[in-house]
Amino acid sequence: MTEGREGADMKEITILSGKGGTGKTSITAAIASVAGNAVFCDNDVDAADLHLIFNPQILEEHTFFSGYKATIHDDECTRCGICYDHCRFDAIHYKELGGLYVNQFQCEGCRLCERVCPVQAITSKRSDNNYWFISDTRMGKLVHAKMGPGEENSGKLVSEIRGRAKEIAKETGAGYVINDGPPGIGCAAISSVTGTDTVLLVIEPTHSGLHDIKRVVDLIDSFKIPSFAVINKYDINKEVVEEIEKFLNQNNIPLLAKLPFDKQMVESMVNGQTIVEYNPDSEISQKIKEVWEKIK
Ligand code: SF4
Ligand code: SF4
Repeated sequence: MTEGREGADMKEITILSGKGGTGKTSITAAIASVAGNAVFCDNDVDAADLHLIFNPQILEEHTFFSGYKATIHDDECTRCGICYDHCRFDAIHYKELGGLYVNQFQCEGCRLCERVCPVQAITSKRSDNNYWFISDTRMGKLVHAKMGPGEENSGKLVSEIRGRAKEIAKETGAGYVINDGPPGIGCAAISSVTGTDTVLLVIEPTHSGLHDIKRVVDLIDSFKIPSFAVINKYDINKEVVEEIEKFLNQNNIPLLAKLPFDKQMVESMVNGQTIVEYNPDSEISQKIKEVWEKIK
């Protein structure tokens, strides 16, 4: 899979927030309403929610095989306890009525237990409890995923769906791939920004929002990716907004818009619409259109 641009004209934009609850997904969806000629990709594979607004018609479903999980076969196990002693993740437990079992949520798939078991009573298999989809939506094609609880390798899954989104953009002549990025700075976030053309930061005017966006800026700086920012609900805490603006200035990150708090944002979500669809004349809708023009 190629991480960079697939075609001469196609650009990839990743929208990040550093934390959940900033309104990133609703802003991504609103941008989708005005973008046109784009393929969308929900990179927040651990808690995907873009599909709730996009109302996708699934065209393709694929299984994603993540990490290994070990299983102890009771009928072959001699209860020697060697695997219990070796598991560094404390994933192996004694059953109350005798025998041992692997807690699937704690198992990291290192397969050491399988190797040390003297009677080959342990086998490991890759989990197939993860899926990714290609869907048709009113905004355009959406590539999205669903990871099972406690599943691993979200970074790999993000790479896989981003790669497919870029292929679709190339096949259909779309000008943009727009990624709704995951919160935080973990594997999935790293995978989401690697090779993207630009990052749009959605910042909430709270101290935790500022703290988290600083960590994201550190991350994207290490990849030398140009970034832009919007402050969402700026009017709920103007003092912190000043701190955010100072931070953005110091880091040469252009602030594209300050979006006001507007209860119509929530109303539009409840209606399964973006704010641009719900009220195209609202102040936020107008600003979203300006943001997209500037990003383009
Ligand atoms: S695969 Fe590794 S983490 Fe999982 S039970 Fe075996 S030793 Fe523990
Ligand atoms: S090492 Fe093998 S035989 Fe020993 S307790 Fe574990 S599964 Fe059973």
